[in-house]
Amino acid sequence: AKSEGRGTYRFFEARMGMEVRDRRLLEHDLRHAVARGEMHLVYQPQTDVGSGAVTGFEVLLRWKHPERGLVSPAVFIPIAEESDAILQIGEWVLREACREAASWHKPLSLAVNVSAVQIHSPHFVGLLHEVLLQTGLAPGRLEVEVTETALIRDPNRALLTLRQLKGLGLRIAMDDFGTGYSSLSNLRSFPFDKIKIDGSFVRAVDSNEQTAAIVRSVLGLGRGLGLPVLAEGVETEAELSFLTAEHCHAAQGYLMGRPSPIEAFSQHTHGEVAI
Ligand code: C2E
Ligand code: CA
Ligand code: CA
Ligand code: CA
Repeated sequence: AKSEGRGTYRFFEARMGMEVRDRRLLEHDLRHAVARGEMHLVYQPQTDVGSGAVTGFEVLLRWKHPERGLVSPAVFIPIAEESDAILQIGEWVLREACREAASWHKPLSLAVNVSAVQIHSPHFVGLLHEVLLQTGLAPGRLEVEVTETALIRDPNRALLTLRQLKGLGLRIAMDDFGTGYSSLSNLRSFPFDKIKIDGSFVRAVDSNEQTAAIVRSVLGLGRGLGLPVLAEGVETEAELSFLTAEHCHAAQGYLMGRPSPIEAFSQHTHGEVAI
């Protein structure tokens, strides 16, 4: 049993070594990815549950690595955050997405994911102010999505930043609601305008009674606090029916639309242009 254990350990160690090396390579490549034109943006529709109308889009980052192909943001965003490359990448996302949204015919909302490093950067509020002025995007159309883990590094500073962002006229959504450590107290401490229920809950509402009860409670919480709730990761009609019956405000997921290049929504589909 002992030797088996050592073997397992050695295997684990070798695998870890590869992961560390892999991370360093990715980290290095990430620094040049924007300049080399390897990044692009996709947009996923957010809809009003009652009417089914598209009310806005969340912008999601994609990295097409020259040798590896598409690398998931779930893999490269944490690496970019550790190396601070996220500041440069995040700025690019903001500029590109705001410029894009400012060109839409309809005044739909734009939701942008923002990481902890950006929230804690002393230049972040100024950057947003400048990007809004430069692109002409109405601040009321921009929504910043923040996870609660992005706020805990320095909660006082994060609170100040969120207040300043709201001072610019934009909205703040709490992303991945329910997956953090103290969602309820964070909801009370920070000036959120919207709750986004994480897809891991939404996917189980139609198959797991406990999860259904949790989602119902979050919807009640939103009603009590006067905050709209968006359910992410909606994949099936059954999930959407549940959300409709429970009066969830907004939804996002493969059922309504996959994250796609913006051109997919500017073409006539079913006789209607989304943007
Ligand atoms: P997130 O903010 O929770 O975004 C939702 C993720 O769920 C996206 O994954 C989206 O493509 C995926 N998704 C949407 N609908 C469905 C569905 O119906 N079923 C399933 N299974 N998945 C669905 P993606 O694009 O791979 O992004 C992963 C995460 O990477 C995001 O999670 C976000 O935390 C981060 N991310 C993406 N773009 C950016 C960015 O520009 N900046 C920052 N800081 N983070 C980003
Ligand atoms: Ca998000
Ligand atoms: Ca999520
Ligand atoms: Ca399901």
